[in-house]
Amino acid sequence: MKKHCCRAFEHHFNQAGKYGVSIIFTNLSEKAIFMQQFRMVDKENESSIVSDNLLRIATQLVINYCPWCGRKLSKQVKHYGGLDRNDLRIGFEKLGT
Ligand SMILES: [Zn+2]
Repeated sequence: MKKHCCRAFEHHFNQAGKYGVSIIFTNLSEKAIFMQQFRMVDKENESSIVSDNLLRIATQLVINYCPWCGRKLSKQVKHYGGLDRNDLRIGFEKLGT
């Protein structure tokens, strides 16, 4: 069985940490979560953004289904061992929750 449900999901999974839309997988505290993440700039360039106003340069939302093909993501979670990108996860405190 393929790791990713579809080519669009694979493409966005490989964009993790880059500007635009991407998919992040994290398995922190034994709870597998897929997130769709939206970034203004690449993660490595975040510090280059300077503003007098409060900016949110990245945001994310937990997803249970593939946004492109609609498949349930929990069915493919077993293929994601070792692909944790918790380093890219936006802390909940920054989301104001
Ligand atoms: Zn898909």
